[in-house]
Amino acid sequence: MDHRGPAFSGLGHKVLTGMQSVFRTSGPVVIFPSSGTGAWEAALVNTLSPGDKVVMVETGHFASMWASMAGKLGLEAETIPTDWRRGADPAAVADRLDSDYNKSIKALCVVHNETSTGATTRVAEVRDAMNAVGHPALLMVDTISGLACADFRFDEWGVDVAISGSQKGLMLPPGLSFNAISEKALEASKTASLPRSYWAWEEMLEINKRGYFPYTPATNLLYGLAEAIEMLQEEGMDNVFARHRRHGEAARRAVAAWGLETQCVEKRDFSPVLTGVRLPDGHDADRFRATVLENFDMSLGNGLAKIAGRVFRIGHLGDFNDLMLIGTLSGIEMGLGLAGIPHQAGGVGNAMDFLKNNIKAVGRDEAA
Ligand SMILES: *Cc1c(COP(=O)(O)O)cnc(C)c1O
Repeated sequence: MDHRGPAFSGLGHKVLTGMQSVFRTSGPVVIFPSSGTGAWEAALVNTLSPGDKVVMVETGHFASMWASMAGKLGLEAETIPTDWRRGADPAAVADRLDSDYNKSIKALCVVHNETSTGATTRVAEVRDAMNAVGHPALLMVDTISGLACADFRFDEWGVDVAISGSQKGLMLPPGLSFNAISEKALEASKTASLPRSYWAWEEMLEINKRGYFPYTPATNLLYGLAEAIEMLQEEGMDNVFARHRRHGEAARRAVAAWGLETQCVEKRDFSPVLTGVRLPDGHDADRFRATVLENFDMSLGNGLAKIAGRVFRIGHLGDFNDLMLIGTLSGIEMGLGLAGIPHQAGGVGNAMDFLKNNIKAVGRDEAA
């Protein structure tokens, strides 16, 4: 399709308004042809100026990568550390912002679903904490793996810039990324002076009004996006979130029955998207992953950065159902045996019991 021709604008309008409903915002959403990392950069360069101070809560590998990007872009990036076993602590955010007497912190950045650990951040509580101390920093949220899996409400939660990508909850191949933008962030972009061109919101938003893009969009992925949005709306967003929560609970019940520990230890922060599992000391998670790959052709997520070799990750997001989860858990249980990892049997059975005893409660779509 000619992306400058008359037929294109229907598709353009459809995906742009569709993404507003997925982010739950009445404000603009921009779509870049890039991986999620590009939209991280877009969020920073559109709203900030060289030397600006940003505070990032380091909940895991992805949060630390975003902080490192901020440094490379010429921002002063400060991190609030965690043990990588929970989401951001709203009280720690309030403390840090409260001590910023001259309001030099321009943005507070958190990751909604930390994909490296399997912990979520309670974004609404972070916003409340910022409001409680009356700090004017922008709230930026990476929901690259959270969006369309875990409840996310851009307007209601007072988020200023949200960042996402196509290849996680949106069930698409990689190649699209997103920024949802608040009025306050748009206002900040008028005076922000970090250099930007490809990522500039201004020209994008102007041309988006007519359903077009300033440069060649990833047209084929936009067709997929329109379909993904329709699938989400057919199932109903609340049902999508409930399905993810239920699979997260079933996966954790399997892990508990095996006698293993989840990487996330804070109950309120358990991820509905993925489950990070720790192996006992002295057992290499990558060797275990290789055993599962070789024998069952199943690729488990690896531990990243400082938890490499300690953790493997079970993804249960996107276009996913009960039997896919049970198949996944079965491969793990057999792999634990083959790799000689100390564990108890019965994890898969425990997950099956939970799923079959909780069929109705989750409002699973009738068509399935
Ligand atoms: C996947 C992911 C990223 C990186 O996105 P890319 O598409 O690989 O650039 C960043 N943050 C989180 C939370 C992610 O899950």
